[in-house]
Amino acid sequence: MNAARSNLQIDGATGAAVIYGDPVAHSASPAMHNAAYAALKMNRVYLAFRVLAPRLRSALDAIDSLGLAGANITVPHKESAARAIMGRRNAQLSAEAYALGAVNAIANRHGTLLGDNTDARGLEADLRALRCAPRGGTAIVIGAGGAAAAAVLALARLGAVRIVLANRTVKRAANLGRRITEAHRHTLQIDPCGLDALKDSKLMAEARVIVNASAMGLATRRFAPLAYGAAPAECLFYDLIYSAKPTAFLKPAIAAGRRTADGAGMLAAQGELSFQLFNGVAPPRGVMRAALMKYLGRK
Ligand code: NAP
Repeated sequence: MNAARSNLQIDGATGAAVIYGDPVAHSASPAMHNAAYAALKMNRVYLAFRVLAPRLRSALDAIDSLGLAGANITVPHKESAARAIMGRRNAQLSAEAYALGAVNAIANRHGTLLGDNTDARGLEADLRALRCAPRGGTAIVIGAGGAAAAAVLALARLGAVRIVLANRTVKRAANLGRRITEAHRHTLQIDPCGLDALKDSKLMAEARVIVNASAMGLATRRFAPLAYGAAPAECLFYDLIYSAKPTAFLKPAIAAGRRTADGAGMLAAQGELSFQLFNGVAPPRGVMRAALMKYLGRK
């Protein structure tokens, strides 16, 4: 039994927050949120529920009917949760969730469901903590799904003026680029391309940061060929995927002596933002991150 659980006394007044996903049993969110509840001595518990796609709407109804503090939403429900919130009475979508077309956190405000997305802010917070400085320069984002959209938003806020969006399906990168440049018309240039561009030493030499926001390297354990050695010495390689050991994207970067970070910091930061949204109070500094590192078997 971990420390968070051993502190917990469930009684008639215990409140709850949840995460919905499929699969969800592997999620690190219960470890992070329950550690914060224990540290704050809050009579609340955080639970993971496997929710099948056809049951998502009734699971969203339960947030209100059971008086839950809030719900995180993970794969594969983020986009459908945004659509469900938009089509619902007593519900609001934040501007950020609307821009990303995806919801990963829903707070219950006295029966009104507030759908938000903390992924971009979580990544931005972690990149700031890592002193990543793309201001005025070029960033490369690999992928074109919801996580890549969040990465583009975070890098735009950090001042990148050009983002090269490299994806297996170039059309998807072009569509994402078009959507985002509408909002940042005068400040941001987005160049969609295929994964072959990652072999281009000239492009690599311009990159201040290279973010993997694709699922590449997760199941396959292999990554597309990339000219690691051509990246500037101070370039940060950031993988949204996190694991106990260096990921397939980061291993060659480490070997080439480049700065690297995986997505554990982003996960902890988006979790802290969700905790604040659900509970109206910030988690004690570092508690959720420490719980995540313990969960991952890292320091
Ligand atoms: P998604 O919408 O399903 O997009 C998946 C992306 O990966 C697409 O760009 C897809 O390319 C690409 N891809 C998948 N398999 C590939 C392969 N074998 N070769 C090349 N490209 C491949 O997923 P998402 O929600 O954006 O999530 C992407 C990743 O970010 C996931 O690994 C997720 O775990 C991670 N993530 C981490 C955090 C965090 O807090 N650290 C938060 C959110 C997401 P196509 O368009 O060509 O299919």
